[in-house]
Amino acid sequence: MSQPHAAGLAPSAERMFAGGWVFVRGVPALEFLPVGDRPEIAFAGRSNVGKSSLINALVGHSGLCRTSNTPGRTQELNFFRPPDMGPTTIHYLVDMPGYGFAKAPKDKVDNWTKLVKEYLRGRQMLKRVFLLIDSRHGIKTVDSEIMDLLNEAAVTYQVVLTKADKIKPHELEALIIKTTTEVAKQPAAFPLVLATSSEKGHGMLELRETIYDLVTVR
Ligand code: GDP
Repeated sequence: MSQPHAAGLAPSAERMFAGGWVFVRGVPALEFLPVGDRPEIAFAGRSNVGKSSLINALVGHSGLCRTSNTPGRTQELNFFRPPDMGPTTIHYLVDMPGYGFAKAPKDKVDNWTKLVKEYLRGRQMLKRVFLLIDSRHGIKTVDSEIMDLLNEAAVTYQVVLTKADKIKPHELEALIIKTTTEVAKQPAAFPLVLATSSEKGHGMLELRETIYDLVTVR
């Protein structure tokens, strides 16, 4: 069933985000990565930033992505694919493990860094990483460290503000300006900052359009 806020998308793009997505596999170490033979986009962000909610809202599937509070898949790269729509639109959406747990033991952090670094370094078909930032907090030191990592790996990333409904419109406007200024200094960052709310559907159309263009235009 298509989502009401998908109105305005091209019909094939609308189909892509109208449910039918499947979990492909969880990747705890590089040897389990699926062959990188198709475009993929990835989502990264601090734990609790709203990543699971955003992915679920994006693909119109409330239970696709478990919240990071669920133990298990949290230290894995989780691969999802859309419904089969023909050769040009088959791609992967990758949910990267959340970072910035306050009390994470050092070996967990090291594992995370190793997995993510290796993934970012070797993935030719990775079109863009969407770096999620909580609208209430803005870019924190731990996010800047991930930005450094993405800059080093020369992987294009785009900042997506989450939970935009949690702050006032004028605060959001100021945050977008501030974040855009910070992002402009980053060599690998895409200049446009998107603001979203999974709860209210805000920004979902733009994000869907962006993803559709990334994975279908080669
Ligand atoms: P994750 O740890 O990054 O996967 O974050 P979750 O998707 O589990 O979300 C963390 C918390 O933020 C949950 O309580 C969500 O209900 C809440 N949340 C996520 N997105 C939104 C949003 O757009 N608006 C509001 N108000 N709350 C949200």
